[in-house]
Amino acid sequence: TERTFALMKPESLKHLGNIVEEIYSRGFEITKAKMCLLSEAQAKEFYKEHEDKSFFLGLIYRTLVRHMSSEPVLAMELMGKDAIKAWRREIGPTDVEVAKKEAPSSLRSLFGINKTQNGFHGSDSLESAQRELQIFFPSDTSL
Ligand code: ATP
Repeated sequence: TERTFALMKPESLKHLGNIVEEIYSRGFEITKAKMCLLSEAQAKEFYKEHEDKSFFLGLIYRTLVRHMSSEPVLAMELMGKDAIKAWRREIGPTDVEVAKKEAPSSLRSLFGINKTQNGFHGSDSLESAQRELQIFFPSDTSL
């Protein structure tokens, strides 16, 4: 088993109950969870690995940061077999329209709204899982 970092973006919180059931039925366990309202600075820190990407320099980056700090999000540690890759597969493509066509049973297809409000985040590597878990769950001993 492996641990990954998953996040429910603001638009998916209204479906929290259904999504928790989906998470377990797709083979994951929720081992940590925290609902929080990010500051703009925290949202920027979270997405900082993208800050050099060209599309993030403009409108999209600002839209994304504003979206992620506008309403609460639910941060989670998920545990499961090959969890990092498996969670990325379950959430599906970034663009909800693509997700609906190519991965209709993916979580972004089922619960996402558009490219920015796509419902979910998932770490893309072991390094980002460790970094992102550390941001939201800094100490293993805290309650
Ligand atoms: P995540 O970081 O949520 O796993 P991802 O890895 O699928 O997303 P990234 O390319 O890392 O996609 O982009 C991070 C986030 O930025 C996306 O989840 C989405 O909310 C937003 N985003 C990415 N590309 C676009 C775009 N072309 N237009 C609008 N928003 C976008």
